[in-house]
Amino acid sequence: MSKTTAQKKGLLERLKEGPVVGDGSMCMTLEKRGYCRAGQWTPEAVLEYPDAVKQLLREYLRAGADVLQTPCYASSDGRLKRANITYTTAELNEAACEMAHEIAQEGNALVCGGLTPVMSYSKGEDETIVRGEFESQLAGFIKRRDIIDFILAEFFGYIGELEICVDVMKKAKMPIACTMRIGPLGDLNGVSVEECAVRMAKTGADLIGINCLFDFDTCLKTLKRMRDALDKEGLKTPLMCQPLGWRCPETTNTKKGYLLLPEFPFALESRQVSRFEVHKFAREAYNLGARYIGGCCGMEPHHIRAIAQEVIKTF
Ligand SMILES: [Zn+2]
Repeated sequence: MSKTTAQKKGLLERLKEGPVVGDGSMCMTLEKRGYCRAGQWTPEAVLEYPDAVKQLLREYLRAGADVLQTPCYASSDGRLKRANITYTTAELNEAACEMAHEIAQEGNALVCGGLTPVMSYSKGEDETIVRGEFESQLAGFIKRRDIIDFILAEFFGYIGELEICVDVMKKAKMPIACTMRIGPLGDLNGVSVEECAVRMAKTGADLIGINCLFDFDTCLKTLKRMRDALDKEGLKTPLMCQPLGWRCPETTNTKKGYLLLPEFPFALESRQVSRFEVHKFAREAYNLGARYIGGCCGMEPHHIRAIAQEVIKTF
């Protein structure tokens, strides 16, 4: 048993005891602070401005997050190349693991290694290339299994791609979570919410759900459809929800969500949710079966604090 798991309860134990609070926005928040480039959203800040990234992680921890995700979204070979980033996935992920672990130790938080969708899948390249891109992301988390508590595949637009990713992730022999960026129209190939939910559960992942692109109301409706579909199949996999911190109701019936707003990404302030809305969302998500509740883009530390306060009141 690793030092980490010997000293603190792991994800599966915590899920059995009550809701787990996730962390919040990373790239979008770092961009506003001057440490990340809009457009590519690549994570070179972990090497260039480590203190700034660590401070944001610390704010989530202090606000009540039970989990800190490794800040390495978009650290895949294809995405780095497209953005002309010369750092490798290995370098970025190693630094992200170290800093998430360092800050998690200031509290009792878990460290979650995050995997990102790859461009080779959407381009229709051979599955061996797609697997290779996931393997190179996963390698850093396997190497640092002494400090990584579980792994998460997030922001997937295709259920088929997610199934391949989870299959690769099983090599790590760690608890697995996964989320898709789906709304009412289902995945990018039109696979329904219900089918996505059932197929996600059947990958054997320990936690499944949705993140990003849509606001609270839309995510809650999607979560309900997922829970109903799982119940119908007798599948008990707990749900996870990490929505946007902005309102975007007019994008509900699209596949791109808030990316379609004219205000994206530089003028979303007037759409920001309040903490009152976060309290309501967290309660409703819990009632729909979400056992891991956090935030994605636009969910700042004070929003995470509202989630923690809401779920801690009862549990
Ligand atoms: Zn997001």
